[in-house]
Amino acid sequence: MEKNRYELAYMTRPEVEEAVKKIKTVILPFGATEQHGPHLPLGTDTFLARAFALRLAKRIEALVLPEIPVGYSYVWKGIPGTVSINQETVKTIVKDVAKSLDEYGIKRLVVLNAHGANASALKYAARELREEIPIEIFYFTYPALDEVAKLAESPRWHGMVHACELETSWLLAVCPELCDMEKAVAEYPEGSEVDRYHYSSLPMGALSKSGVFGDATLATKEKGEVMVEKILDHMEKVIRGQKI
Ligand SMILES: [Zn+2]
Repeated sequence: MEKNRYELAYMTRPEVEEAVKKIKTVILPFGATEQHGPHLPLGTDTFLARAFALRLAKRIEALVLPEIPVGYSYVWKGIPGTVSINQETVKTIVKDVAKSLDEYGIKRLVVLNAHGANASALKYAARELREEIPIEIFYFTYPALDEVAKLAESPRWHGMVHACELETSWLLAVCPELCDMEKAVAEYPEGSEVDRYHYSSLPMGALSKSGVFGDATLATKEKGEVMVEKILDHMEKVIRGQKI
């Protein structure tokens, strides 16, 4: 297994003790385990979170925690392979991680979330932590998305990102061996069920036959590379306090 100098899980106790004397920022990659259509694996969000985290770590000199492989995946309930933890659990994980880091002098936690439905729990975790420990928290769920979406040829489905041209391009950029583009499809679910979805507890599994929301067939590694770097630029600027 390849050892990465930024990943805590691969470091020894003396290596970490030395690293945290200088490095005061830690990144927590947060993913999910849920269907991503016929062409991407269930771990897509988790793999993306880790890959983005490693690239960000190089830019801002941070350590990277082991990725959290499950998230709040209510919308895919009942579909084989889905594992969903509730919003409270997502919040508790972030808070417990932050408190652990605070014990040995880490000053900043960056939660790099690759799964949209985790986002609101992260916001509340950060707000609650502000009252409890002095650690600075940033949380990102694919920032600059409107700008990044302009680089795609196909529109998003209701502004969402799921197994579409965007997400497929990102995974092609960071883990191409995990994408089976021969199986990629396009699907834009419409109809009364879609209208109800926005105003009810209807799961998304009821809307799309393939599990794709958008046009995955147009995804490319080249587009993905540009998009991934744009998203990382945005995160880096926010963390450094630069104008975005
Ligand atoms: Zn995803």
